[in-house]
Amino acid sequence: MIGDPISHSLSPVIHNAAFGASGLDWVYVALPVPAGGGVAAVHAMKALGIAGMSVTMPHKEAVLAAVDEVSETAAALNAANCLSLLPDGRVGADNTDGAGFVDALRDDAGIEPAGHSFAVLGAGGAARAVILALSKSGASDIAVINRSHERGVAAARLAGEVGRVAVVGEVSQAEVVVNATPVGLGGDRSFPCDPSLLGSGQVVVDLIYNPATTAWMAGAVENGASAHNGLSMLIRQAAIAFSSWTQVAAPIGTMRNAAIAELHSR
Ligand code: NAP
Repeated sequence: MIGDPISHSLSPVIHNAAFGASGLDWVYVALPVPAGGGVAAVHAMKALGIAGMSVTMPHKEAVLAAVDEVSETAAALNAANCLSLLPDGRVGADNTDGAGFVDALRDDAGIEPAGHSFAVLGAGGAARAVILALSKSGASDIAVINRSHERGVAAARLAGEVGRVAVVGEVSQAEVVVNATPVGLGGDRSFPCDPSLLGSGQVVVDLIYNPATTAWMAGAVENGASAHNGLSMLIRQAAIAFSSWTQVAAPIGTMRNAAIAELHSR
């Protein structure tokens, strides 16, 4: 895994637990690579025969210039989070965050996006991945609410006909409301939207997983909504990467338990 900062990442714990449980003699390490080093890291991946590489900030866009194949999703998002060394020695790039979110929504809330309405708070990298994946999975309406209008417009456009920019009051009409801003991260008590706008029958998903219950999630539950955090998305995007590298089904339960144990130990 390359990124900067990277020392806080749960990914090594999650992947190494999965390798162990699958009997694979593989290892996953976090390598701090400062901005500007993404292209060299892709070349190193080829030179060293590294089978897979996760990519995080600030390299998600830069690595695209150095890989040989870019998936439709990574191209649409102009960002990759998962590189794979292909059998012929070339490197492929994908973005697994959106698919991870959709898998997590199924795991946690039993919801398939098709025919459902969504509101997404935020329009950054995570929001864009979620918006694209929801539209590809048949969501009927995706309302994008963002602080800066231009980024909101660009993110809503990813969803084509079902995407639109909305104002915050419209979260009340969505069946599922997603927080894809960092507001609430690390125990910050501020809200990405007023929880009194949320209520019974709605599902809220906060992409934050630390703390496990954000103030926003707690407020939504007090008002009658059900709430889920971002841990399942983290696990599911890792599971997709794991399977694409190893061709082995990911041991989801092991990965989740390892992440929870690590979070508790911090
Ligand atoms: P990002 O690219 O920096 O985007 C952040 C978004 O949040 C932008 O749309 C920004 O609005 C908005 N925002 C930031 N601060 C805000 C504030 N104080 N008030 C209102 N809006 C604010 O970040 P990202 O990579 O998308 O990550 C967003 C969140 O998702 C983070 O908490 C991250 O940890 C989480 N995440 C979770 C997973 C997972 O697997 N669970 C995966 C990826 C990310 P502007 O456009 O106006 O700047």
